[in-house]
Amino acid sequence: MATELQYTSLDELKSIYDRLSATYKSGVTRPVAYRRKQLIQLARLMQDNQNALEEAQLADLGKPRFEVSFAEVSPVIQSALHAIEHVEEWARPEKPEVEAWRSSWDTTVYKVPKGVALIISPYNYPYILSFNPMIGAIAAGCPVVLKPSEAVPNCAALLAKLLPKYLDPNAYAVVNGGPTETTTVLGFRWAHIFFTGGIKVGQIVATAAAKHITPVTLELGGKSPVIVDTDCDVDLAAKRTLYGKLQNIGQLCVSPDYVLVPRSIAPAFRESLAKWHKDFWPETPLHPSSQWGKMVNSAHYKRVKGLIERSNGQVILGGDVDEKRISLTVVSGVSGNDSLMQEENFGPVLPIIEVENVDEAIEFVAERPIPLVLYAFTRSEETKQKLIEKTNSGRLALNDTFTMLAAHEIPFGGHGHSGYGSYYGQETFETFTHRRGFTNVPPEMEPAFGLRYPPYTEEKYKAMTAGVHTPIPKK
Ligand code: NAD
Repeated sequence: MATELQYTSLDELKSIYDRLSATYKSGVTRPVAYRRKQLIQLARLMQDNQNALEEAQLADLGKPRFEVSFAEVSPVIQSALHAIEHVEEWARPEKPEVEAWRSSWDTTVYKVPKGVALIISPYNYPYILSFNPMIGAIAAGCPVVLKPSEAVPNCAALLAKLLPKYLDPNAYAVVNGGPTETTTVLGFRWAHIFFTGGIKVGQIVATAAAKHITPVTLELGGKSPVIVDTDCDVDLAAKRTLYGKLQNIGQLCVSPDYVLVPRSIAPAFRESLAKWHKDFWPETPLHPSSQWGKMVNSAHYKRVKGLIERSNGQVILGGDVDEKRISLTVVSGVSGNDSLMQEENFGPVLPIIEVENVDEAIEFVAERPIPLVLYAFTRSEETKQKLIEKTNSGRLALNDTFTMLAAHEIPFGGHGHSGYGSYYGQETFETFTHRRGFTNVPPEMEPAFGLRYPPYTEEKYKAMTAGVHTPIPKK
C-alpha cells in the first residue's frame, strides 16, 4: 500500500474553507432531507468500502480486520442509521412550557447549525473518531472540514479519496497534513472545533480557537485506572481488564492504563491474568498466528519500550519485542512514582499497583489528574457509592472495560485533564447546534404592560417588584 500521504497545499486549505463557508451561507445544508441524504451516503461509504477500510488500518497499525470492522466500520454505520432515524425529531423546534402570563409569546427554541466545523482526529481509531463527530455535524446541518492524523497515511489518504465520492464536496472536505497545515487551518474562524487527541495539541487547539471565540470540544486521554475490589469475581476482572488492554494493543484513549488491586487478592489476580494471557495467545502475542498490531511509529515504539525498561516493577507476562511490536506486557509491583505512572502509557503495557484496600485505591485515583474513564470491578453497593461520591472521571464504568463504549445513550467525554464537552447520539447533534431562543410579544399585551413604563411611581414600584418578597422555603 502507498504510504506517501499527499498534503493539502496551504492555498488549497483557504479555498476549501471559502467554498464550505459559501455553502453554509447559501443554506443548502439546512433542509433535513439534505442532511439525511448525506448521512445515508456516509453509511454507504463505510459499507461499500469495508475491505479497503480494513486494509488501510492493517497497513498503518497492523490492526486485525476483526477490530477495524467490529470497533469502527459497524459502529459508524449504526451511528449514521441512528442519526438518519432521529434527525428530524432532533432538528424540530422546541416549545418549552412557560408561565401563564407569557403564554401568548410563542416561546421557542430553534435548532440552528452553528456553521462550518473543523474536526481533527487522532491516529488510533481514524474512522470512528472522524465520523462519529461528523455524523452529528451533518445532522446539525454544518459543513465540515476533517483533518485526519498524518501518522496513519493509508487511512488518511483513503478518507480523502472516498469522501468526495459519497458526500457533497461543497459541504464536506478532507484536508491532510501535519502541524504546518493544521496550524494554517486553526488560523481560520470556525463555528466549532471538535478535537480528539493528546493534551499538548489540545492546548494548542483551544488557544487558537480562543482568538476567534470558537467553541471547542476537547476529547483527550489520560491514565484510566482499574480498581479491583476484594468483593468481585477476580478471575472475570482479570479477563475483562486484559480484553480492554488488548484493543489496538493499548493505543486506545479508554485503555485500562493501570490496575490498583488489594494485596489480599493480588496473587489470584496475577494468576488469572496469566491464565487468560495464555488462553488469548497460546504462544505469544508476537507469534505469526496471533493477530497482534504494531505501534504506530518508531517514536511511540521506543517510548513504550523505554517506559517498560525504566520501570522498577517486575515483568510477569509478555515483555518480548520485535521491530515496532511489543507483546502485551504486565508489570507487577509498580509504585506511584514509577516510569509507567508518569504519562498515559498508550501501548500494550499494564502496570499493577498493590494497595491495602479499595479506600486506598480511591484515594490514589482522587489525588491524580481526572481520568477519561474510571473502571472498577465490584459487587458491593457500598464501594459503588464511594466511587460515585469520592472520585471524578469522564465516565465511571463498573465490571467491564472497552465495551462500555457501546452505551451511546449516555455522554462520552472527559472532565478536567481529560478534556471538556461530550458527545454520542443526540449529544453530538447538539454539539454542532446553536439553540436559538425565540420570543414574539404580541401588541395585545400592551394593557398588561402599563406598570412597566416611566415615570416610576411608588404604586408601580410595589406592583413590579412584588417578586422580591416571594416566600423562600426554610429548607
Ligand atoms: P495528537 O494530539 O498527537 O494528534 C491529534 C491530531 O492533532 C492529529 O490530527 C495531528 O495531526 C494534529 N496535530 C499534531 N501536532 C499538532 C500541532 N502542533 N498543531 C496542530 N495540530 C497538531 O494525538 P495522537 O497521538 O494522534 O492520539 C493519541 C492521543 O489521543 C492520546 O492522548 C489519546 O488518549 C487521545 N485520544 C482521545 C480520545 C477520546 O475520545 N477522548 C480518543 C482517541 C485518542
